[in-house]
This record gives sequence, C-alpha cells and structure tokens, in this order.
Amino acid sequence: MAEGIGSLIEINLLISENEIVISALQKNNDILEAIFKNSTIGMALVASSGQWKKVNNSLTRMLGYTEEHLLSINFQNITHPDDLSTDLKQLDALSRGEIPFYQLEKRYLTATGNYIWILLSVSLVREDNGEVKYYIAQIQSINERKKMEIELKKQKEELHKINTMLERMATEDSLTEIANRRKFMLWFENEMTRMARHPVPVSLAIADIDFFKSYNDSYGHQEGDYALKNIAKELSHTLRSQDKVARFGGEEFIMLFPETDEKGCFLACERLRKSIEKLSSLRRPVTISIGAVTYHPREGKLVTFDDLLKVADSKLYDAKRSGRNKVKVVNLADHQG
Ligand code: GH3
Ligand code: MG
Ligand code: MG
Repeated sequence: MAEGIGSLIEINLLISENEIVISALQKNNDILEAIFKNSTIGMALVASSGQWKKVNNSLTRMLGYTEEHLLSINFQNITHPDDLSTDLKQLDALSRGEIPFYQLEKRYLTATGNYIWILLSVSLVREDNGEVKYYIAQIQSINERKKMEIELKKQKEELHKINTMLERMATEDSLTEIANRRKFMLWFENEMTRMARHPVPVSLAIADIDFFKSYNDSYGHQEGDYALKNIAKELSHTLRSQDKVARFGGEEFIMLFPETDEKGCFLACERLRKSIEKLSSLRRPVTISIGAVTYHPREGKLVTFDDLLKVADSKLYDAKRSGRNKVKVVNLADHQG
C-alpha cells in the first residue's frame, strides 16, 4: 500500500515535472514564434523541395504576396531565372554539408510583377537521420542599394565611353582617322626626350598632295575627302612600324622617322611617294611631294619643332618647284651652313 502511494506520488511528481517542461517549452516556442513573426527581416522556413513552409510578415510585405499565396508556391517560382542556378548550387552544397550556410544577392519577383534585389542568408535544420528537415531563410531587401550600384556602374561605363571618345577626338583627325597635329607633337616631344639620353639622328618630313585643288575641282569636294582618307590610310600602312604619320592640315601630312639619317629618310619617303603614285582606288592617279630634314644631335645643342618644320617646308617647296612627285631631304646642319 505504502509502495502504491509512493509510486502515485512519483507519478504525480513526474506529471508535474513534465508539465513544467512542457510549459517551459511552450514559453520558448512562444518567444521564438514572436521573434519570427515580428522580425524586421524577412524570415521563412523552406522545405527541401523549395516550398515555402512558414513565412513572416516582413517577407510577405516585402514581396507583396499574401501568406496563403506564398505558402502555395516554392522559392524557385519567384526567383529570377538568371539567379536560380547559383542559388540551387549553393543550396545543394549546404544540404550535402559542404558549407554551414550561404549568403547570396538575388532577385525575387514581387506581386507587382517587378523584380527586387534581396540579400538571402540560408542555414538548415536536419532530421535525426541527417535528412534536411527545413531550410531557414533570412531575406533582406537591398533593392535601393543595388539599384544605385547598377546605376553607378552604368554611369561609369558611359563615362568610360565618353572619355575614350574625347581621347580619340583630341588625338585623331576626324576625316582620315589617323593622328592629328596634337598627337604628332606628343610623339615629337617623346622622341626629343629619348634622344637626350640616346643621341641618334631623327628625320621629319612633310608631304603635300600635288595639284589637289584641281582634283577637287574635277570630282567635287566629297571625292576629294575620299581621296584624302585613302591617301592617309596608304601612308600609315606603308610606314615602318617605328615611324609616325599625322594629318597636319588640309592635304598635308607630317611624318617622324626616329633613328633615321638622311639616307634612311630618303628611302622611306621614296617608298611613300611611290605607294601613293600607284594608288588605284582614286578617280585619277595622284602624287605627293615630300620635303624632309634630318637632325643629328650634337652635344649641348637643342632643336625645336619649329626649326625642323621650317627646313622641311623649304625642302617641300624645292620638291614642288622641281616638278612635283619628288622627295627632297637635307641635313639640318648643311641647311644651316
Ligand atoms: P600643289 O601641287 O602646289 O600643292 O597644288 P594644290 O592644288 O594641291 O595646292 P595647295 O596644296 O595649295 O591646295 C590645297 C588644296 O587642297 C585646297 C583645297 O581644295 C584642298 N583641300 C585642303 N583640305 C581639304 C579637305 O579637307 N578636303 C578636300 N576635299 N580638299 C581639301
Ligand atoms: Mg597644301
Ligand atoms: Mg597641294
């Protein structure tokens, strides 16, 4: 009997202990439920199939769907197609235990039919047998930040395009698309700096199209422009790789021949002259006259662009006077006497 009462008391004690445990669990559960419900971050439990199992108010508000609707679909249904494979790959790695959690910036389709950018953080809870019980997803809207980032990226690309265009406009001749005078001056200054360390001869030449006014008069200005473009192209293709050519103005071109003496300059200019003479893409054969000057650097003596240009110009005049379609080269020292 006494034993019977004892076990009854034990049972009672067990029952009341159980009740205490159950009520503690209930309390914990209520707390967790309240956290889940009132969290300012979107939260969800997701089945291993991707089906939404439980969603909080922040998430339904963010996406604009009712809770019923969201629970009737899976996350794949509202994931942007471009983001789906990354998400599924990460989810796979998570469920295989290769990573403890993952974070991903992705897009969800909202009830209004627009995509919004969200930051997704996913971890998981397993069954006792190791199978995935559910995924825990935390979802924060990063739409404004992302929109700004995308806008900024677009603006940067646009700026880069404009800069490239400005750079081209500043250094390229718009008609012939070869270098302009400004670019030539940069080349010339570089060459002078290089020569100060490494004194070797340099040559500079001016080419002017012969009787070009009459070409324009015969075929029109547009045909003249077309001829100019072709001549510019031919000159740049015929030059050696270290040589430079720019449109100097009108129908005049200027050339720089680094590390080239009078003889080398004459040969290079002759090659240019002959290549233009043979050009077959024009309405009629066209020739050029070239005047050039070679400068041999002497210790302590500097030469300016204008000094060289003046001499090259006078040689061009000689070439014209002696019948055109000619190359005239002089050593600067000889010219100055
Ligand atoms: P010369 O043999 O003495 O050089 O005779 P020229 O007729 O070529 O005389 P000059 O060099 O003085 O004439 C330049 C002519 O080139 C004037 C103009 O008709 C033509 N020209 C200059 N710039 C352009 C251009 O951008 N486009 C076209 N189509 N023609 C141009
Ligand atoms: Mg001219
Ligand atoms: Mg001319």
